[in-house]
Amino acid sequence: MNVAPIPGVPVVDAVDLRREYGTGSACVVALADATCRIFSGQQIALMGPSGSGKSTLVHLLAGIDTPTSGTVTWPALANEPHLRPGPIGVVFQAPSLLPPLTVVENVALPLLLGGASGAEGTAAAREALALLELDTLADKLPEELSGGQAQRVAIARVLAGNPKLILADEPTGQLDHETATRVIDVLIAATDASGAALLINTHDPVIAARFSVHWSMHDGALITTSEQATTRC
Ligand code: ADP
Repeated sequence: MNVAPIPGVPVVDAVDLRREYGTGSACVVALADATCRIFSGQQIALMGPSGSGKSTLVHLLAGIDTPTSGTVTWPALANEPHLRPGPIGVVFQAPSLLPPLTVVENVALPLLLGGASGAEGTAAAREALALLELDTLADKLPEELSGGQAQRVAIARVLAGNPKLILADEPTGQLDHETATRVIDVLIAATDASGAALLINTHDPVIAARFSVHWSMHDGALITTSEQATTRC
């Protein structure tokens, strides 16, 4: 089901997020008091040194991890029957394609898990692959792909779910510069076309320069002006 986001309502709204790992003397505060909102159409680069908490924030905003304290909600997605797979798409550093499945089967799988029929899933998967000019790879196995091709297939898998919020956690971390640029081109073009919100975690300033909004993290603190955190595009 394709539910239009509610205009003017944040896609994700995080308040005072804190995430600790471990306990006692081994406790690590990965994220402290992070408050941010993202609206449809925003394209945000999240920067910061390794270990500063970027992945932790991305995982919390995606709902695949739970904060130690604070709240994260997805107000514009309140009418969606489920958030993942589909409305919230997550791209990881490694493409994580399932080796025994072909490219088109990998892209269709989340749709099938979300309740689509085989025919619907395959049709949406082929459409997403065509959008990324990956049609010719549809029947290949992941082991036959280059790193850049595999990462673009992983993006097609996310786009096939018609996401309203795409969270990309170092999606180009394993790619050379030229391939990384192509992957970022694909993500920006896809979100330009769909109006989805996009947040990408990167430590590459050249990639970050492609984005209109920049957030940064240092030692678990999210640094952004309230205007940046709430601006609507
Ligand atoms: P970044 O994405 O900026 O590299 P992370 O969010 O991965 O940072 O990590 C932030 C901090 O939390 C680091 O000190 C890291 O070692 C710690 N951390 C992350 N995940 C875990 C975990 N599962 N267990 C313990 N510590 C973790």
